[in-house]
Amino acid sequence: MASAHIALVGCGYWGQNLARVLSELGVLGAVVDLNAISSSRLSLAYSVPARTYKNVLEDATITAIAIATPSQCHEEMVIQALHSQKDVFVEKPLALSTSGSSRIGVAVSKSGKTLMVGHVFQYHPAFIKLRTLVRDGELGQIKQIYSTRLGLGRPSKEDVFWTLGPHDVSMILSLVGHPPVKVSAEGGSLMGLGALDRSSSRIVFPTGAEAHIHVSRLHPEKERKLIVVGDHGMAVFDDEQAWPQKLVIHRHGTPTDETGIGMGRRVRYAVLLDEVEPLKVECQEFLSCIMSGSTALTDVQEGHAVVHVLESIAQALHQGKTTDVSRTPPMAIDTGPVCLVDLRAQKSMIQKSLDERLSRVLNDTKFIMSDEVQELEDALAAYTGSLNVVSCANGTDALTLALMALRVGRGDAVLVPALTFVATIEPVALLGAQPIIIDVDPLTLTLDPAQIDAGVELARATGHRPVALIAVDLHGHPANYSTINEKASSHGLVVIADAAQSFGATVDGRRVGTLAKITTTSFFPSKPLGCYGDGGALFTDDESLAQTLRSLRHHGRGQNKFEAVRVGMNSRLDSIQAAVLLCKLEIFPRELEERQRVARRYGQLLGDTKGTPRVRQGVISAWASYTLRTKERDILAQTLEQEGISTAVYYPRPLNLLAAYRHYPVVEGRCPVAESAAAQVLGIPMHPYLSQATQQRICELILFVKGSSR
Ligand SMILES: *Cc1c(COP(=O)(O)O)cnc(C)c1O
Repeated sequence: MASAHIALVGCGYWGQNLARVLSELGVLGAVVDLNAISSSRLSLAYSVPARTYKNVLEDATITAIAIATPSQCHEEMVIQALHSQKDVFVEKPLALSTSGSSRIGVAVSKSGKTLMVGHVFQYHPAFIKLRTLVRDGELGQIKQIYSTRLGLGRPSKEDVFWTLGPHDVSMILSLVGHPPVKVSAEGGSLMGLGALDRSSSRIVFPTGAEAHIHVSRLHPEKERKLIVVGDHGMAVFDDEQAWPQKLVIHRHGTPTDETGIGMGRRVRYAVLLDEVEPLKVECQEFLSCIMSGSTALTDVQEGHAVVHVLESIAQALHQGKTTDVSRTPPMAIDTGPVCLVDLRAQKSMIQKSLDERLSRVLNDTKFIMSDEVQELEDALAAYTGSLNVVSCANGTDALTLALMALRVGRGDAVLVPALTFVATIEPVALLGAQPIIIDVDPLTLTLDPAQIDAGVELARATGHRPVALIAVDLHGHPANYSTINEKASSHGLVVIADAAQSFGATVDGRRVGTLAKITTTSFFPSKPLGCYGDGGALFTDDESLAQTLRSLRHHGRGQNKFEAVRVGMNSRLDSIQAAVLLCKLEIFPRELEERQRVARRYGQLLGDTKGTPRVRQGVISAWASYTLRTKERDILAQTLEQEGISTAVYYPRPLNLLAAYRHYPVVEGRCPVAESAAAQVLGIPMHPYLSQATQQRICELILFVKGSSR
């Protein structure tokens, strides 16, 4: 263990204790204090050099820093130490605000170093025993916790709950195991320095448990007591008692006994404890975390949660009312990678129904065209309001099947928008028809209805019969179907909606699937409704088209599968994917609501750096992706990626600039709107499980890049 070499910073009252223990453990390497008298006293006592902070940070032989300075210095000193690649032990409180503790959180994760907060009671043998008893349910459900920390202290300019309260809050949070929902507090300034010398706080938890913390530095007798009241028993942790009496348990009958809580037969006993100094246990824990690379019990997350409660107490004290903290849970300091779509979070929401449905499919061993597939098609029809739903193998096949059902082939032309995934145009070309590429609308980035006339003309000019048009609901926002349908029908074009990205979206209350003659969608895993492989579906109100589609997806079958009546393809959705989709459909409406919330939050956080394209009036988007539009796209993408935040460009090149498709006719020869969008759009993480804290982190970075490139 002696390989750690620790510099102690802050040689005041508590620093002296730390110096003694670190020296006993053989790891004290230097002492630092602005006050030369304090540091030279410890330097002499433990035969280690007294040095400056800068000096120890630059010294590679000092591997860790223990900080016991006044708390207003913690934030900066901790961050400096982490930047210098030192492991850090810091006395409580970690910081004086949650923004401070969040900053520290970011520095911890960037440095990969160990950080431990000096919530020393978490390492007290009596509290460790108490925590175990509570977790094992020995006291039943926790109802009340009273914590008192009183004594005669020196007058101070710091509010007393910041100096004494961290211990109580840390212990209470670890006993209850939940962040609080409400905090109220009152206090008094008795010694005349303006700071609060006494305060009482009440903390309410979602479990119904309540905690009361009373701290004072103007009290004639020292008191350090934590009382836990459960419905099966009570515990008293009184640190002023001698070891044999520090932790006393009172057991009583269950609350269902007529006698009620605390009444009737009772047993009282003291718990046998190891008589070890908590500070020593704490320092040993710090050393072992450094060695093993494991996280400490009182790590940065724990310290941050405590700061969050202390900050709420401060707010309650200064506003003189109850603070509702349920809306702002201590934000998990998450600095880890952020994916575009979080399928893991989603999976944990549906795990139980997944297990049930998948095991049924596996046991039935009907992997193709089982009941699940029919059940899914019925459920999709009910959800979208479309009269017929035909599932198939993927979204690209869905488009191919739609075109085949319309008998599109050689000599025909199909209009497609320039800004889309290649799968929109590919089936047209594959069937031997002529794609006609037209530009998109600058505001919505979906097919520009004003270009349909020119598209039809161009089709005729190239000697083709214009028969259909594929509109694409880019990013989950439905295209302008009312205008598109009108224009298309005036030219006799059938409208196919490529809704691969917009399943679930609505226009004036009508759901995608009912907005065009035929709608196709994809269940690719990252789409709004995705399976665990490939899948797709078609929606149409036309009964005879639906029958043709059912035949086409199954080798052009007639009454039975060996009766081929047309040339079809093999494009069935398999039973496992149908089972997965049925599970996901259950939570889909809630997910869709969450997507709206996430999109709204981005809009608020980003201000005028809003997303693009704008969502049209009356539209509820499926928010397949959230896309920014900026001239600094590449530098922004690079910065976000460096910080572990995934981005994607939908799409870097419009169809008319892709090698495989650039020889096809383009209205007016080019697509200026799509080309300029392709150079500027950037998709940022978008999924229903994106937390507010993560969104904040993403937006801060975006605004930072925007600000610094201005
Ligand atoms: C994803 C997508 C497709 C293709 O879907 P697959 O299931 O991957 O074949 C087609 N069109 C658009 C617009 C898409 O985003």
